[in-house]
Amino acid sequence: MIRFQTFVFNAFAENTFVLWDDTLEAVIIDPGCATQSERDTLKKFIETQKLKIIGLLNTHAHVDHVLGNAFVSRTYHVGLRLHEADLPVLRTAKMLAPNYGIRDYEEILPESYLVGGERVYFGESELEVLLVPGHAPGHVAFVNRDQNLCFSGDVLFRGSIGRTDFPGCSHEALMNSIYTQLLPLGDAMRIFPGHGPETTIGTERRSNPFLLQGFR
Ligand SMILES: [Zn+2]
Ligand SMILES: [Zn+2]
Repeated sequence: MIRFQTFVFNAFAENTFVLWDDTLEAVIIDPGCATQSERDTLKKFIETQKLKIIGLLNTHAHVDHVLGNAFVSRTYHVGLRLHEADLPVLRTAKMLAPNYGIRDYEEILPESYLVGGERVYFGESELEVLLVPGHAPGHVAFVNRDQNLCFSGDVLFRGSIGRTDFPGCSHEALMNSIYTQLLPLGDAMRIFPGHGPETTIGTERRSNPFLLQGFR
């Protein structure tokens, strides 16, 4: 049984997720902690819950999602995993960070790459990796179908969709990812986006203005 905690970190109000199960093995998705106080918050939670961090995952490599990568990797001795198509995005994060007022971003490179369709394991639990490009070229979502949990980064938000006005983005690819990868997960699937509150596939299918415009 997967349990998880959400933290809202950095100036972009980015959602960082810690997932664990009864074994107390845990993975961190998109650590966005950018200040000492945010790093302390994350570390204290992990200590209090007695979690053993065994994985560091990025849905994509936009700067707001990677700010805590170096801290997590160094503190818990875990290598970074993301999709290879987002490596160029990761490489530009360092250049872009100062534009957003971030002075101390420390880049780390992936230890290995995620592949669409593979499974990531921790404890007795698993997450399926879905490739959902568009907002970023190597964007992935992490899904557990038994518990209807989907950690999907910046693809689909409550009432909105991911931006596609950055280099490397594609609106067409984003809509295709939503229609062919996310909507088939079923109405009961809970969506935990990279920003803002959780939603469900059913809610978005029925009320998201971007999905009601009749793109396909
Ligand atoms: Zn993003
Ligand atoms: Zn984001």
